[in-house]
Amino acid sequence: MTARDADHVVTTISTTPQQALSGTAVGTGSFAQCASCQCSIGEGSTVALRAHRFTDETRWTTAAIHCSRCLPDHGTITTPTTGAAEIVVAGRLTLRGDAATQSHRLVFTADEGPAAVLDYSGPDDGH
Ligand SMILES: [Zn+2]
Repeated sequence: MTARDADHVVTTISTTPQQALSGTAVGTGSFAQCASCQCSIGEGSTVALRAHRFTDETRWTTAAIHCSRCLPDHGTITTPTTGAAEIVVAGRLTLRGDAATQSHRLVFTADEGPAAVLDYSGPDDGH
């Protein structure tokens, strides 16, 4: 393998939104709140995480989290934002222990594979 090939391999393995969003801390304590029905969602729950990223930003910002009941109504992007990429990813909530603070926090873990991306809109879709 030449040096050029090695460079190519590195650039094609980029972080997917799913990977970037996995491990996102959500909610407070052991529960998060659904953005639409305000129900409490805890460990093991199937959820959808909605996030956006403006083109000049490198990190995704979590906009909302929805429980599985609200997914049919909120699992798609109906009003794309100009200048921002938006994504809705399916996953589940897991409780992670934090040894440093002797506490637990709820984190989002994205499902794997293309089917986990429920919807996506690019920065140019908001016209
Ligand atoms: Zn809900």
